[in-house]
Amino acid sequence: MSQVSPKIGFVSLGCPKALVDSERILTQLKVEGYEIVPSYQAADAVVVNTCGFIDAAVQESLDAIGEALHENGKVIVTGCLGKRSELIREAYPEVLSISGPQDYASVMSAVHTALPPQHNPLLDIIPDTGIKLTPKHYAYLKISEGCNHRCSFCIIPSMRGDLVSRPVDQVLLEAEKLAKGGVKELLVISQDTSAYGVDLKYAEREWRGKAYRTRMTELCQGLSELGVWTRLHYVYPYPHVDEVMPLMAEGKLLPYLDIPFQHASPRILKLMKRPGNIDRTLERIRNWRTAVPDITLRSTFIVGFPGETDAEFEELLDFLREAELDRVGAFAYSPVEGARANDLPDPVSEELKEDRLERFMAVQAEISAAKLQRKLGRTLTVLVDEAGAQGAVARSSADAPEIDGVVHITDGQGLKPGQFVQVVVEDADDHDLHARLAQPLLKVV
Ligand code: SF4
Repeated sequence: MSQVSPKIGFVSLGCPKALVDSERILTQLKVEGYEIVPSYQAADAVVVNTCGFIDAAVQESLDAIGEALHENGKVIVTGCLGKRSELIREAYPEVLSISGPQDYASVMSAVHTALPPQHNPLLDIIPDTGIKLTPKHYAYLKISEGCNHRCSFCIIPSMRGDLVSRPVDQVLLEAEKLAKGGVKELLVISQDTSAYGVDLKYAEREWRGKAYRTRMTELCQGLSELGVWTRLHYVYPYPHVDEVMPLMAEGKLLPYLDIPFQHASPRILKLMKRPGNIDRTLERIRNWRTAVPDITLRSTFIVGFPGETDAEFEELLDFLREAELDRVGAFAYSPVEGARANDLPDPVSEELKEDRLERFMAVQAEISAAKLQRKLGRTLTVLVDEAGAQGAVARSSADAPEIDGVVHITDGQGLKPGQFVQVVVEDADDHDLHARLAQPLLKVV
């Protein structure tokens, strides 16, 4: 008699790090014989992986839990908001279980209690790389959990704990499997990629018969052997970041750095308790651009941090004009429950925060648009994300998925996701490029 697999619905909220947690839980569920279903009605129970980073995310997570309870009734909550279980219990006392981020064991034990597994050895074989929530051709590669810094606006360390790095051989093995499984772009993520391996004292491990230290530079050297795009996120401007420039100049690592500067005024950065020293940042950026003229620099900033004066805001705008960053995200400061920055004096009024955010974005929009205009007529290699009757949407080395711009290929109808092609840029708007194939596709008759 055939067994019926218990069915689980899954709601994944939050950042790429939470997405990686979701992928791990989904993989484990599948290994144990659970079926993942796409609707509340078809599910026997629902797992909600929550985010608790800012107040808006908390509300979104609470709403998602409420919806799952209403539509299904059996709900297991995990993720960052799980660290604030009292908040969830107060709103929804009927949830079956609450656990924090990376607590896969608690999620699985709650699932076992609600729906005992019915293991069937004939169930689908799970690929070595697990279940991925991103499209087949790119994957997030999480190299560590937690963070040793204590930025005053952030509660991640209290939710996720201190830095715990994955040994370099484990990360390289996972990356190798992903590349063998068809992934064309690896997105390295952590809370602080530059700090990778500090907790392991840069332990040496072996991969493909060669010694590598658990350290950012050596990790990048290993990843560059895989013949896929590797993109670095959440890098802090420490001196050793200079060490990866040669790999970028040789085309072995994408010429792209995502560096969350957050501000440019030394006093505000001190109040934020940010790692890294801003004093030499402009000089370092100049040196990177000399070594790798094509480098794309992305960053995020917070405006209206408590105590930010007009002069300090102007200092930030001056930095922006001088640094000419390619991609920039900005937020008006919003208090996060439990963050020490909430106790700082002289909060900036909502009106002033919004006004500064608008001015900040206007300055950056001009810079970004001018930088994109300089790409007109250039030939770029791009990775295709999707294609249809309107053409294809792809990304160049300058575009990380979800957060940056895209390249629209007007004659890309015959392309396939995951394909690398060369295009000639014909037009640009504030964020995106418009291009044609450098060589028309051959028509198969
Ligand atoms: S570096 Fe700062 S902002 Fe980033 S996770 Fe660590 S404490 Fe939070």
